[in-house]
Amino acid sequence: MIKKLSHIGIAVKDLDKAIEFYQSLGLTLESIEEVESQKIKVAFFPVGTECRLELLCPTSEDSPVAKFIEKKGEGIQHIALAVDDLPAELQRADEMGIQLIDKAPRPGAHGADIAFLHPKSTGGVLLELCKEKEHH
Ligand code: ZN
Repeated sequence: MIKKLSHIGIAVKDLDKAIEFYQSLGLTLESIEEVESQKIKVAFFPVGTECRLELLCPTSEDSPVAKFIEKKGEGIQHIALAVDDLPAELQRADEMGIQLIDKAPRPGAHGADIAFLHPKSTGGVLLELCKEKEHH
């Protein structure tokens, strides 16, 4: 089941500059994290209590985010939906004929498990399904 919008991923070339911009809008930087598997640095800005903006900055030219920026420029890169059961939702998407980028969940930022659905199957939107880490 899809529970809520988790975050919106925004590809940026200059993380410090982008952080400054969102701070100037009045948002508060929550954390910066390196995700080695994606070769990116990620900065999180909570928006309200339920949702975040996730700034994605490549740390290497062969990062998927670097390739995205090269092709499309900076901007919204993906939209992440929080789900209660990621393996079940992936299986459901697979059975619906949706092209999966990740056949199995993998670790993302913030201790979440994530998997991407291919934009070819979703009307042009790179969709991330994400099982957020439980807060205790
Ligand atoms: Zn994400």
